[in-house]
Amino acid sequence: MTPETQVPSRRRAARLGAFSLALALPLGLGGLAAHAAPAAPAAPGLAPATADASATGAQAGPDKDSVQDAHGRHGPKPVGHKLPKVATMTGSGGAVASVDPVASQVGIDVLKAGGNAADAAVATAAALGVTEPYANGIGGGGFFVYYDAKSQQVSTLDGRETAPAGMHEKSFLEPDGKPMEFWKAVNSGLSVGVPGTPATWQAALDRWGSRSFSQLLAPAQKIAERGFVVDDSFAQATADNAERFAKFPATAQIFLPGGEPVVPGQVLRQPDLAKAYAALREHGPAAFTSGPLADAMVQTVQHPKTAEGVSVPAGTMTHADLRAYQVLAKDPIHSTYRGYDVYAMGLPSSGGIAVGSTLNLLEQYEKRTGTTVNDADQAAYLHAFAEATATAFADRNRWVGDVPGVPVAELISKGFAAERACGFDPAKAQQRPIAFGEPDGEYGPCAAPGEGGGGAPNDGAATTHLTTSDKWGNVASYTLTIEQFGGSGMVVPGWGFLLNNEMTDFEFEPMTQGVPALNLPAPGKRPRSSMAPTIVLKDGKPVVAVGAAGGATIITTTAQILTGYLDRDLSLVKAVAADRISSRNTATTAEPSLIVSDDGKKLIDSGHELTPAAAIGRATAIAFKDGKAIPAAETSRGGGGSAMVVKRDRR
Ligand code: GLU
Repeated sequence: MTPETQVPSRRRAARLGAFSLALALPLGLGGLAAHAAPAAPAAPGLAPATADASATGAQAGPDKDSVQDAHGRHGPKPVGHKLPKVATMTGSGGAVASVDPVASQVGIDVLKAGGNAADAAVATAAALGVTEPYANGIGGGGFFVYYDAKSQQVSTLDGRETAPAGMHEKSFLEPDGKPMEFWKAVNSGLSVGVPGTPATWQAALDRWGSRSFSQLLAPAQKIAERGFVVDDSFAQATADNAERFAKFPATAQIFLPGGEPVVPGQVLRQPDLAKAYAALREHGPAAFTSGPLADAMVQTVQHPKTAEGVSVPAGTMTHADLRAYQVLAKDPIHSTYRGYDVYAMGLPSSGGIAVGSTLNLLEQYEKRTGTTVNDADQAAYLHAFAEATATAFADRNRWVGDVPGVPVAELISKGFAAERACGFDPAKAQQRPIAFGEPDGEYGPCAAPGEGGGGAPNDGAATTHLTTSDKWGNVASYTLTIEQFGGSGMVVPGWGFLLNNEMTDFEFEPMTQGVPALNLPAPGKRPRSSMAPTIVLKDGKPVVAVGAAGGATIITTTAQILTGYLDRDLSLVKAVAADRISSRNTATTAEPSLIVSDDGKKLIDSGHELTPAAAIGRATAIAFKDGKAIPAAETSRGGGGSAMVVKRDRR
């Protein structure tokens, strides 16, 4: 089918309301501006003043040139293809930091047109579902953390995928009782959880938004139709996953044109995905509970369509599972650190708990050893940091899962951290695995060593984190994912989006004999996550908002950026760019440039076994200082990210 036949006709577009404006009028955001307060003046230096600097491309006017896409189809110019990646800016009027300039620009367009941080977060996320479809999208889930400036409250939404009712604690065991091979489980219907992302967008807008779901998805639909330009990272991720994408014809058809991975510079149009966005815009998240899109999801999970000679395990997801899905509004995890209030995501994520306990452990490290995190030399600081994160992982592995009775308050208490700091020695790394502690409210100077706390090996960098703020002072910190790069590998045929493999975040079997396994699959359960969207306040006002991609390294990345910025006197972009270390109570990974440095040598001398990892985590953040917003993204990891403001300071 050609893109033209899949794009809604004008008559249908008229029914879609805002969409008709997007096509017919040279407005930035599918009619958004028509309903909005006057737009803020264009941000000087925001992007080159090319005719199509807008991420929607709508400012380009009528298309003169036809551009051939990766599939040899002719069509209009791709959107935002001249937008540069700028890692940080300073300004006002609102800000967006994401991994992709096209998506950041979508958020900025929303802010300029009078939308708020929640609106911008939803529109940016929707755009990322098109330009970063391997890391996130409507087929996945995530966690949304929001600071409301009026009430000075931080709230969270749990949009994590749920296990279908047909799952049980032995779902990932083979008939002989052995755990299924990991990649066999990933590339299957079994790994697919009930997606939560469209419902999360709706829930965020219901609470804090000022624009409609349909309006905010318009730019994403347009990007899917017109295409984006494939860059090196996207091409590499496609090549890395080509073998598993080839197992599923609907996936291969989009990302492996002619059987080969897309290459840098090609234009990738996703007409089927545009159709899915159109359905969502017309029906809202209800498009995911009944109707042709929902039917196709259920069919794909229960009867995966594979290439000849390939068979993969089927899943059990039903329409009833889709209908039962609920986004859950939850209290944030609130911990304190040196006079800051740290708000982050609670269960089923371990992110907020582990980031909070890492910071508590650093405070206790100082008390115990006299080594202060802010003026220790770099190696001493990294040593303390690695000891703290490894300890936090020992405890999160033992105590955190989507089950009742998790001792959350104790895990992030100062008393527990003081007891856990017992083994810290500035001269020597503790042996891994560090034993888990007993967060029982009874804390002595030193607890007897318990059993090994287990670790977390996963250090991939799927997932995406975006951060937005607006001129009223609201802030969104939003992490979303489809789990592995490319999720389950299965695109829903005819609808162009990848289904998640979030169910493989469950343990396949109990990790440690004799220790309760809190993260085994069960009907309706949400797998434990490491995602850690965070907002830090001082005196009720935002100081910094941050989050990251990268599996279990999300926790260490987020905590390292926080300490880099809050303690180590780094600018936010330098805190994001700093060489990373990730000690997760297994062997410690570190970036190669750190390992070969003098600091790396000192760490090795003090007993850290450093395993190289090319890039750890992928973060975005916004700092707030002197009335200005300072968004920051990666300078080089994953090809770099994109920070933008509405009104840029002239320096
Ligand atoms: N599924 C992972 C989690 O929730 C995130 C995926 C990744 O970043 O690798 O923790």
